[in-house]
Amino acid sequence: MNTGAEQIQKLKILLVSAEVVPFAKTGGLADVAGSLPKALALMGHDVRIVMPKYRMIKQPATTLVDFPVEVGGRKETAIIRQTHIEAFKGDEVKKVPVYLVDNYHFFDREGIYCHHDEDKRFGFFSKAVLEMLPQIDFKPDLIHCNDWQSGPIPLMLKDVYRNHPFYANIATLFTVHNLLYQGNWNKDILEFLGINEKYFNSEGVEFYGQVSFIKTGLVYADIINTVSNTYAQEIQTPEYGEKLEGLLRKRRDSLYGIINGLDYQEFNPSIDPHIYRQYSLENLNDKKANKEALQKELGLPQRDVPLLGLVSRLVDQKGLDLIEEITDDLLKEDIQLVVLGSGDAKYEDLFTELQQKNPDKVGAHIGFNAPLAQRIYAGSDMFLMPSRFEPCGLGQLISLKYGTIPLVRATGGLADTIKEFEVNFNTGNGFVFTEYKGSELLKTVDRAIEVYNKPQLWQVLIRNAMEADFSWDRSAHEYVKLYRLGMKKRAD
Ligand code: ADP
Repeated sequence: MNTGAEQIQKLKILLVSAEVVPFAKTGGLADVAGSLPKALALMGHDVRIVMPKYRMIKQPATTLVDFPVEVGGRKETAIIRQTHIEAFKGDEVKKVPVYLVDNYHFFDREGIYCHHDEDKRFGFFSKAVLEMLPQIDFKPDLIHCNDWQSGPIPLMLKDVYRNHPFYANIATLFTVHNLLYQGNWNKDILEFLGINEKYFNSEGVEFYGQVSFIKTGLVYADIINTVSNTYAQEIQTPEYGEKLEGLLRKRRDSLYGIINGLDYQEFNPSIDPHIYRQYSLENLNDKKANKEALQKELGLPQRDVPLLGLVSRLVDQKGLDLIEEITDDLLKEDIQLVVLGSGDAKYEDLFTELQQKNPDKVGAHIGFNAPLAQRIYAGSDMFLMPSRFEPCGLGQLISLKYGTIPLVRATGGLADTIKEFEVNFNTGNGFVFTEYKGSELLKTVDRAIEVYNKPQLWQVLIRNAMEADFSWDRSAHEYVKLYRLGMKKRAD
């Protein structure tokens, strides 16, 4: 008989990520790694997180254990420190343990990425994660690896640790948050990690003469997924597949798409401590106060014109060349544009210059600033996300929650979450275009402005946006199903 207890058998999950909110963040991966585990913990699962201990991490942590990890024929010390994040639901509080892998040589540096020895840093990290498990006496049912930085783990389990009884039957899930970032390195990283050279072939880890960490994860994990259904389909095509489409097609029976949820403890205008005035659907006038304060903060005139926000890594992926293409026409309209981002110099310069030339229309802030980002989500009327590709996208989900209407290109997670507002039916939560062209983006802005100028309709649209539910509840259940499927595949 299938008892209730069997049905809700609790899982032991280790989530591995190079970035986790609130400790270190460059993009959406950190949001996911910091919020999915909270939802899982509230469902009763024993979920723990592990990440590197970068210099920037200042939160207090307890030192648990240290041990040598053999890499490159020498022994490097891994020090495991422990802290936690808290998940709340009503009166219930759950603590999610967070293990920080410390090593002065690899991680006591400025920033998170872009060092000369990324292969060794994250190779060491991956190996230290596996060596840590017996040390802390935690044997997970499944290790949830994320992006290339933890790509070696599924292979090391099958190779380096295959005869070690402790690791028997640990399943792996590999999640791709962005296929563009692959971690492709010189072949000698295999020797550094003690991985048998026999895996260096086109069926294995080899990728155009290099060792690819993302390919390693994709080939050897028991099950794989990405962060939306549409992106899961797109990456099987040459246009989006980043040369891995053949492999992804081959593994399509094990490839799933789960849309990211949003942590409504973090992103919620009714409790957000970083915005000028908190608001909800019941007191939308206070959203206006946020707009005025944002205009003031960024030196824009406090006028009631459509305010378009953009918070983004400033890289080609985000469709910024479309914005560049239409700036003359865009700025002829009676609008204001607020930009927060950092990344490629060409885009940083673009927006800095736009601001200098149009100080009463454009407010640009170059840098990474999470509290300012929340004020932009709160103070803008519309949010621009014309991405060339977008695995899931969180910006549009945050915007919805803040009643800021997303203008997006229909790709990846944007296609799965944003639907065109249909004036005649009052359905939809944003404005959408498909063809990757500046003229299409401009038409989309025009459609949005037309509705903005009909305040009653705009209120309906804001309601549709704010009532949409992209909390983790549903997606976390999907992950649990995937974990169980991965465990089953591992056992078969
Ligand atoms: P990606 O992961 O490709 O960067 P997502 O939309 O999935 O894109 O997630 C981006 C996250 O990073 C969002 O939470 C967004 O608000 C945040 N973000 C991006 N750039 C900045 C910035 N310059 N300052 C603060 N937050 C930023």
